[in-house]
Amino acid sequence: MRASQFYISTLKEAPADAEIVSHKLMMRAGFIKKLSAGIYNYMPMGLRVIRKIENIIREEMNRAGAVELSMPIVQPAELWQETGRFDKMGDELLRFKDRHQRDFVMQPTSEEVITDIVRQDLRSYRQLPKNLYQIQTKFRDERRPRFGIMRGREFTMKDAYSFHKDFEDLKREYQNMFGAYSSIFTRLGLEFRAVAADTGAIGGTGSHEFHVIAETGEDAIAYNPDSEYAANVELAEAVSPATPRPAPSAALTKIHTPGAKTIEQLAAFLKIDANQTIKSVIVDGDEGVPVLLLLRGDHELNEVKASKLAGVFSPLRFASPATIREAFGAEPGSIGPIGFQGKIYMDRSVAVMSDAVIGANENDYHYTGANLGRDFPEPAVADIRNVVAGDPSPDGKGTLAICRGIEVGHIFQLRTRYSEAMGCKFIGEDGKEQVMEMGCYGVGVTRIMGAAIEQNFDERGIIWPDAIAPFQIVICPMGWSRSEAVREAATSLYTELRAAGIDAILDDRDERPGVMFADWELIGVPHRVVIGDRGLKEGQAEYQGRRETEATKVPVAEIAAFIK
Ligand code: ATP
Ligand code: MG
Ligand code: MG
Ligand code: MG
Repeated sequence: MRASQFYISTLKEAPADAEIVSHKLMMRAGFIKKLSAGIYNYMPMGLRVIRKIENIIREEMNRAGAVELSMPIVQPAELWQETGRFDKMGDELLRFKDRHQRDFVMQPTSEEVITDIVRQDLRSYRQLPKNLYQIQTKFRDERRPRFGIMRGREFTMKDAYSFHKDFEDLKREYQNMFGAYSSIFTRLGLEFRAVAADTGAIGGTGSHEFHVIAETGEDAIAYNPDSEYAANVELAEAVSPATPRPAPSAALTKIHTPGAKTIEQLAAFLKIDANQTIKSVIVDGDEGVPVLLLLRGDHELNEVKASKLAGVFSPLRFASPATIREAFGAEPGSIGPIGFQGKIYMDRSVAVMSDAVIGANENDYHYTGANLGRDFPEPAVADIRNVVAGDPSPDGKGTLAICRGIEVGHIFQLRTRYSEAMGCKFIGEDGKEQVMEMGCYGVGVTRIMGAAIEQNFDERGIIWPDAIAPFQIVICPMGWSRSEAVREAATSLYTELRAAGIDAILDDRDERPGVMFADWELIGVPHRVVIGDRGLKEGQAEYQGRRETEATKVPVAEIAAFIK
């Protein structure tokens, strides 16, 4: 690309509404242009970065076995009514009517449409599993759009959805996607961390977020520097150390319950009637992953509530008061309106809604005869708070530290939340009809552009990781219009670099060196070569990396090899 043909528009000052460095620099370097609150033009320079990010994501998704498709941005409300999200989703969902007064939405995510596609086409276990993804415009009417395209209203997301014959296979694919995401963020050249997460409006059970570590991040992350443990503090909530868990009281009876994973199995061991006697919900810490067991009582627990409960506790260690309120319509510690007789109790590894049975937090054991007041302190709502640095790590290894992050990716085990509601079924090996298990996997494509800048900048501007720089190298000729030798050498180097597959831009704008250098430093091109008459006499050019403070003399003939 020649700079004279390209669209370069840099600004000395950032607009007043730009609060953080990435927003300021993206505006000043001419990557984006505001059209309306949270709605931006991606200018040619910015679009080059976005396309590179998309390509890395696309390559890694394809490598992981996912298949690309594209779903409409405008979607009929009927599908969203089937899952209840048309009403439940709140103001972030942009709804509108067409000329026939039919309701439509702008897709904020696409679970409904993909499930509708799959329920029509995939009917047999032989056609499963499938993982389908798109890289597509999303619209969320964010209450507070800010930070430029980091929290836009219109933005680009890679969203993938997987369909499985059983939970085992969903878990396998979830791990596969976890690996693909790690490859994506490594290739993007970003410092990131995967953290356990809340499932929010998407729903489902297991979930991880991928965060780019940055001080300006909107999320706080609790992590253990000495172990793998990391969780969004929205999720990682602690019971105040003022209410430590006492040793189990002698009144408790410990019962061996080998292999009990269902309520019926557990009830058999405990010699209780799964349908009548116990009115409780137990989350057990077996195998390090709390397992949710629902004991049916005289209360009604439909599938949606059950999966919400699962979302609250499994595989999570802590449930936030907000999540509990949402799932039970109840304050933590209160008696829930959906008929639970026990109280919601949380400690670091077991959550109990019963005064009868609890997980023993030991493989294959449960306690009966538990009494909340006697065997556990009853925590007040105020005791449940966000974890702070220095709190003991839930995995029992050392203490937690807190850092800030920008959520750039989020993966979920949706289970059957959407497939159940929309009747997305298949015929299993046994000839019986079953509901598909689902996973979903999002990456904030345009947010990554901002997040990368938050991690890579200096007082002169952006410093792009090579993989996503708008151009890898800029050739700056000294005296373009004045010196034919410079023009020729610069042009032939440009041609040579292009032929070698290096993404070069030739600055033929005939600007003064100071202006040229300031522009490219602001734009953040990682490599720069300066060609001038003096150096050319010795066959030399001056190379400078964006992070370096001094130039190095390199023979013009060796530049291509030097960059590669
Ligand atoms: P946030 O917590 O930042 O509001 P979210 O949890 O609502 O994000 P998800 O539903 O998990 O977002 O969507 C998947 C990804 O899409 C997010 O991890 C994020 O990278 C990106 N994303 C979400 N909202 C926006 C937005 N308003 N602007 C840009 N990217 C976004
Ligand atoms: Mg959001
Ligand atoms: Mg979030
Ligand atoms: Mg999220």
